Formats: sequence, C-alpha cells, structure tokens
Amino acid sequence: METLLGGQWVAAGTWLEVHDPSDTRTPVARVPALGAADVTRAYDEAEKGFALWRRTTPFERARVFHETARLLRERAAGITDAVVTENGKTLLEAGGEVQKAADFFEYYAGLARAGYGTLVHDARPGTRTSYHHEPIGIVLAITPWNDPLLTPARKLAPALASGNAVVLKPASETPMAALHLARALHDAGLPAGVLGVVTGRGGKISAPLLDDPRVAAVTFTGSNSVGESLRSSLADRNVRFQGELGGKNATVVLADADLPAAVRAVVAAGFGQTGQRCTATSRVLVERSVYADFTGLLLDAVAALGLGSRETDTLSVGPLVSTGQRTGVLDHIARAVREGATVLAGGGTPKDEAHAHGCYVLPTVLGDVTREMAVWREEVFGPVVVVRAVDGFDEAVEEVNDSDFGLAAALFTRDLRAAHRFAEEADCGQVSINTTTTGWDVHHPFGGFRDSGSAFKEQGTEALRFYTRVKTVAFHFGA
Ligand code: NAP
Repeated sequence: METLLGGQWVAAGTWLEVHDPSDTRTPVARVPALGAADVTRAYDEAEKGFALWRRTTPFERARVFHETARLLRERAAGITDAVVTENGKTLLEAGGEVQKAADFFEYYAGLARAGYGTLVHDARPGTRTSYHHEPIGIVLAITPWNDPLLTPARKLAPALASGNAVVLKPASETPMAALHLARALHDAGLPAGVLGVVTGRGGKISAPLLDDPRVAAVTFTGSNSVGESLRSSLADRNVRFQGELGGKNATVVLADADLPAAVRAVVAAGFGQTGQRCTATSRVLVERSVYADFTGLLLDAVAALGLGSRETDTLSVGPLVSTGQRTGVLDHIARAVREGATVLAGGGTPKDEAHAHGCYVLPTVLGDVTREMAVWREEVFGPVVVVRAVDGFDEAVEEVNDSDFGLAAALFTRDLRAAHRFAEEADCGQVSINTTTTGWDVHHPFGGFRDSGSAFKEQGTEALRFYTRVKTVAFHFGA
C-alpha cells in the first residue's frame, strides 16, 4: 500500500512488511518505510495544509467529515478485513471498530459547527470582550496497534475539526487501517497536506518526527516507556503533550452483586480484543464470601470461549498481535507461576494444528495472586485475568487504588451507597458501576489518571481543549 503525503499517494525505496497474526508465515502486505527526508516533507506539506485548513469554514470541514464517515461505512467490509488481517481482532470486533471510527467523524462534524466563542463582561465602559478557541497548528499523532483505526480516528477527528493539520504516525504492525482512514478523508475532499501519514519504524524516525520546530502538539497513545521518554524529550520546548498510556484495571465484585452479570462483564472486558485494550479488566477483586461461586462461574464462561479471528462466534478470542507480544504474555504467566500463582484456566498456547502458526494464547485465569506479584502490578496486555479475594468494600477500594496506573475500574453491587462511594473513591479516569471497564462512546471524555494519562482527556467536547488555544479579544467602541 502507498502512503499519503502532500495529497499524493507515495511509495518508498524500502518497505515495512505486515503480517497476519493468525498465521505469521508469510507477509500479507507492505507499506513504505519512510525516512527523515520524508518526515520533513510531511511537515512542509502540513505547513501549507494548515494555512488553508485553518481558514476553511466549519461548514466545509463538517461536509468533509460527513463524507468521510459515509465512505468508511460504505467500505466497511474491506476495512474490517484489513483490521482482522493486520491486528488479529475478530470480525465482530473489527466491524465494530469501523462503525465507531465513522461515529467519531459524524460527532465532530456537528461539533465543528458548534460554539463560536463566549462574550464576557468588561469593567471598561464601552468595551466588549470575548474569547474563542483557535487551532494550535501542526499536531503529531502517534498511535499504537491495538485499535489501529479507532485511535487514529479518535485523534484526527477533533484535531481536524478544530482546524489543525496532522502528521499521523501509525504503529508499524498495523499501518493498513490508518491508510484506509487517510484514503477516506482524502476521497472526501480533505485538502492536500492537511493530513500526512508517516509509515516507518518509530524508533528510527523519532528525531525528525519530534524535533521539527513546526510541531505544536504531540498526542500519543501507547506504552508507558515510549510515552514517558517522549514527554521528557518535549518538556523543555513549548510543545503540548497528551499521553494515553497503560492500565491495570480492576473489577470489584461485592457479595450482593448479580454474579452472572459480573462474570459476563469480566469475560467481555478481560478477553475481548484478546485483552489488548488499555481499559481491559486484568484484576478481579471478589468479596470472600462469594469468591468460590464467582470463580466457578468465571471458569465455566472461559471454558466456553473459542479461538480464531475469522470465527463469527461472538465468544471467539483472536490471536495476539505478534509473536513478540505472545512471548511477553507467556513470560508474564510463567513469572506469576514461579512467584506462586495458580493457573485456574489456560496458561499456555493451543496445541492443535489449526492454531499452530498464529500468535494465540489460551484465555487464562490465575488465582493465589498476591499484591507483590508482577502480574498484579504490571500491564500484561493479553488474555490474562487474575482473581483475588478481599474482605469488604474498603479493602477492595484500597487495592484498586494501589497501582501506578489509574485508567479504569468497575464495581458490581446492588448497594447504592457502595456504588456512589466507589465512583468518588476510585482513583481512575473512567469508573463503571455494574458494567464493563471497557466500551466508552465517542462523546464520553476518555483518559486516565496518574501513570495512565495526562491532564488532557480525549473524546467528547473535552478533546477540543487539547487541540485548541484560547484567544481573548477586547473591543473598545466608545462610551
Ligand atoms: P508503543 O510501543 O509505545 O508504540 C506506540 C507508537 O509509538 C507506535 O506507533 C510506535 O511506532 C511509536 N513509537 C515507538 N517508539 C517511538 C519513538 N522512539 N519515537 C516516536 N514514536 C515511537 O505501544 P504499543 O505496544 O504499540 O501499544 C500498546 C500500549 O498502548 C499498551 O501499553 C496500552 O496500554 C497502550 N494503550 C493505551 C491506551 C489509552 O488510551 N490509555 C489505548 C490503547 C493502548 P512503531 O510501531 O513503529 O514502533
């Protein structure tokens, strides 16, 4: 596939290979591996694109967005196939991702036309003062492989709706979905240069991507290690940074909870997308009196899960994104077992021929887990759920908050007081009562606290704060 630079579809001298995680034997596609000169060209083009786009009316921006959404829906079958092929999501999960990406453009099409500014009082007689939001300039968006279409859409829609130009750097494992999105925007009439897509290994083109003085803001979703190094490398420059990083999300099940509903939520949030979601439930804290009942139901549900990305069964779990990711997940399980955890389900790879060449790990449940274990504290990013008994609400909340991360947490209970206390006391950016830690709509502000995030939320109207700056204007018209 070619990539988009300056309104042209371009190739390169060298290529990045894309593999299907359900069968990694041969590459399924290739995309250009761009170099430093191409990155500089992307910024040259973005400069021209920004000059035009910032003056394009919100009505025209909205028209481009509605057409983009329409094209994404019209092309859904092909884009879904690309997401399944490069990421390993199931058909159902990938299909949902395409629809939600279209939703982002429809939602921000409306917002692009909303709110012009605010008129405020001025103590000076005969003076009218207002403030309004304006675009910040060229935004660098760096995205991971786990939602290869959705994460670019979540960033591009508010960034472009606000009048910025964007240079997008998608993950090297999954560049095809981002290129489909770029093609939809291009075909919908987005002017040349407003969006450039830089495919290529992030580690190799980091300096030209980040050091260019024309970058006004960097929005990054990915690992804590990369995110923190980007944050510190930008800290002495006046460049805005938004980081959406890892999570270690807990679901708490109190004794009065609807246990089957809690099990359904833990299975959906723990094993959906093969656990490769920043909001995945990876820790479950169960009140001791219902621990055995809950764990029994959970193990029954996990035993019913199938494997395979092209299965149409809603209970199917796809492969991990790559052999490297599979090795990392298996290492986490092995370490947990060495430290004393018990494998209650899964714990390894499937042995049948049908899954022999894919990056599969069996849906895994671990018990006898202590708070000191790495599997309790570190993000695994795979189909691994650990279960622990707790003595009551206070201990549960204390354990939920005993984490460097603060992205998502859920509580299952019928007690209104416990529910409200949890919403107040859970030190996380996304809190759910009697539902999953995952699954936030495009208009719900989204982002974590502490090591999971930054001061700026994504999604909804909140996202516009990151992509705009505020100008205050005073008009003196005389007494
Ligand atoms: P990653 O290794 O940090 O990579 C993310 C992106 O950064 C990729 O595009 C990568 O490019 C690029 N990159 C890597 N090193 C770079 C550098 N030195 N300079 C510039 N760019 C660089 O993360 P990942 O493994 O793809 O994604 C998984 C992580 O994302 C998990 O920790 C997960 O929790 C987190 N995540 C968070 C959220 C959230 O909203 N909080 C959502 C989804 C995922 P290459 O692919 O070319 O290396």
